[in-house]
Amino acid sequence: MNAPFGVRQFVEQLPKAELHVHLEGSMRPELLLELARKRGVSLPADDVAGLRRWFRFRDFAHFLEIYLACSRCLREPEDFQALMTDFAAHQAAQNIVYSEVHFTISTHVGNGVNGDEIAQALGEALTTAEAESGVLIRLIPDIVRNLAPAAADVTLEWALAHRDKGVVALGLAGLEGVSVAPFGEHFALARAAGLRTTAHAGEQCGPESIHEVLEVCRPDRIGHGISAVEDPDLLRALAAERIPLEVCPTSNVRLGYAESVARHPFERLRRAGVAVSVNSDDPPLFETSLIDEYQVLAAAFGYSRSQLGELARSAFEHSFLDDGLREEYLERFDAQLKTLLETTV
Ligand SMILES: [Zn+2]
Repeated sequence: MNAPFGVRQFVEQLPKAELHVHLEGSMRPELLLELARKRGVSLPADDVAGLRRWFRFRDFAHFLEIYLACSRCLREPEDFQALMTDFAAHQAAQNIVYSEVHFTISTHVGNGVNGDEIAQALGEALTTAEAESGVLIRLIPDIVRNLAPAAADVTLEWALAHRDKGVVALGLAGLEGVSVAPFGEHFALARAAGLRTTAHAGEQCGPESIHEVLEVCRPDRIGHGISAVEDPDLLRALAAERIPLEVCPTSNVRLGYAESVARHPFERLRRAGVAVSVNSDDPPLFETSLIDEYQVLAAAFGYSRSQLGELARSAFEHSFLDDGLREEYLERFDAQLKTLLETTV
């Protein structure tokens, strides 16, 4: 990575928010090994180095295999607590003071784990993380569009029942080729109940997939949304209606949806006036971190420190924090950025 000198230190010190990161996809090989041993799940490797090699990206099917193996090792509430605690520590170490974590509850309920107990365990882990390291974490349970609508019912019910445990929004993930028509009502009900909404789209498929979710699910934000770059009218609409995109550059490159970071649409989206935030998606699976994401973007597009500051600010601005709390975070961010710009050269 040939980033200009000092960019990494600047990004490390920058207070950050992350809006698109999956809890199950954040499992480090060390924790996966520990949980697999505890729960008697066999994996293709039985040491950390072997798991790291297995994690190395091959194709989407391989990615799903790892993702599901991580999910299979989460059998008891304490496993979820361990994962969230580990995740929170990793966010704190990167100075990510606020995170919105995507989480597929229906997979775990389908594996026979009690949803209420999971909520309790995650809620406790969030409270402890906030008290101990000051990082605030909120949850986005997501509907998997290629699963039966019954799984989506589980997700919506869980989301509505556990707002006091940190749920802020309903999400949508899964294979983009599958119609979202069955899930419009889930999103309408979530919205009516006061939850915020976000949907993966325009990652695996073209701009028509973004049009489809905007029409059916009417999300507040779009996960990825990078293929909007192919549709000038859509770009104008996203900019005019202030619908932000949660962009994950390394994930897009690893999964083959962008050729390289240098050719990634990130800068074209930003220049078109679309609100973009920088995110890591599934960091250990793509061998990245949020700090790495800012760094590779800076290297590819030559962003200055104040431009990196603007990008970091955008994540706080488009978060699902309550208005009052968001203002507090933004004020604190602005003061810290000002100091950082004045004290670093
Ligand atoms: Zn994602």
